[in-house]
Amino acid sequence: MSTTLPAVIELARELIRRESITPDDAGCQDLLRERLEPLGFSCRPMPFGEVSNLWARHGTADPLFVFAGHTDVVPPGTASDWRYPPFAAEVADGFLWGRGAADMKGGLAAMTCALEEFVRAAPEHSGSVALLVTSAEETSSPDGTQRVMQELVAQGEVPTWSIVGEPSSLEQVGDQARHGRRGSITFRLRVGGVQGHVAYPQAADNPIHRLVAILAELQRREWDTGDRDFPSSGFQVVSVNAGVGAENVIPPEASAVFNFRYGPAQSAEALQKSVSEVVAAYSDCCEIEVHDAGRPFITRSGRLLEATAEAVESQTGSRPVFSTSGGTSDGRFIAPAGVEVIELGPTNSTIHAVDERIGLDELPRLVAMYTRILQNLLV
Ligand SMILES: [Zn+2]
Repeated sequence: MSTTLPAVIELARELIRRESITPDDAGCQDLLRERLEPLGFSCRPMPFGEVSNLWARHGTADPLFVFAGHTDVVPPGTASDWRYPPFAAEVADGFLWGRGAADMKGGLAAMTCALEEFVRAAPEHSGSVALLVTSAEETSSPDGTQRVMQELVAQGEVPTWSIVGEPSSLEQVGDQARHGRRGSITFRLRVGGVQGHVAYPQAADNPIHRLVAILAELQRREWDTGDRDFPSSGFQVVSVNAGVGAENVIPPEASAVFNFRYGPAQSAEALQKSVSEVVAAYSDCCEIEVHDAGRPFITRSGRLLEATAEAVESQTGSRPVFSTSGGTSDGRFIAPAGVEVIELGPTNSTIHAVDERIGLDELPRLVAMYTRILQNLLV
């Protein structure tokens, strides 16, 4: 094995070796703190409940630039299914292997190395640079980035720009960045009925028939047509439950869970209103629980978008494709404070999978891109 691996790969390996299965940080944040504190970052652990968070800032002036990410990883599954052990951080065949290599200890290492390079080269930079790290992104805990942002905003530490180092790229690092994400809202619907014998339906009220009609109507609707950056909103049923286990019984209740992914053309409030209306048309005996999992956000223009496009182009020769595809990310907790947010990170084809890995050339390139973004904005 080569003994001259770039510093960013060595840091990523140290992070991967810490088995930080969500929401356990396993010492990852201490490691980042040890790197940044000697460079003059003021580091503030912000633990909430079982979640570890770290806020590390260099400088006190505005504008404030924030790199955001997470130290937690999803479980590796069966370790023996992996070509190399999931927490061994092996370097082989041109890749760095391990759980979190792409999602997102690679990005975390690259963000940290970029901060180091930038601050060393320009200790008197304008504005401030910071790192916001949580150990509970994969569990969507309210005590992670969401809570840290609430505290920061309450104290007047509101970022202007944020890069989230999640794996955004497809074939090569920088070919795709995300400049927004769809919102997500989940409904749990329970429809009540009257239990009875299937041969005597006049004495019963079948809740399954009502539930099916509600779901069919919701599924038939065109909710909106999307816009330039977002596809039309999508409705998906994710579970349906009913039945008492006997083939001659109309059950007393039926329930379903369904989710909408939606863009700024739609709103959580409008969706809730529409769902309530459809449900009310078919049943007056029901309960609806709503989980508003994240509002949509979009950075359509501005200095961060330009700084990112230029930085990627300087490394790859092409500007990234800016997309709003994929699930949600912690960007949804940062953007509502009025922050320009872009997600830029390694390739994502093996995230959460067995044999998660990242190309060895990806991380040094990412460090160069990140450093150049900082220089574009703050020198
Ligand atoms: Zn991630």
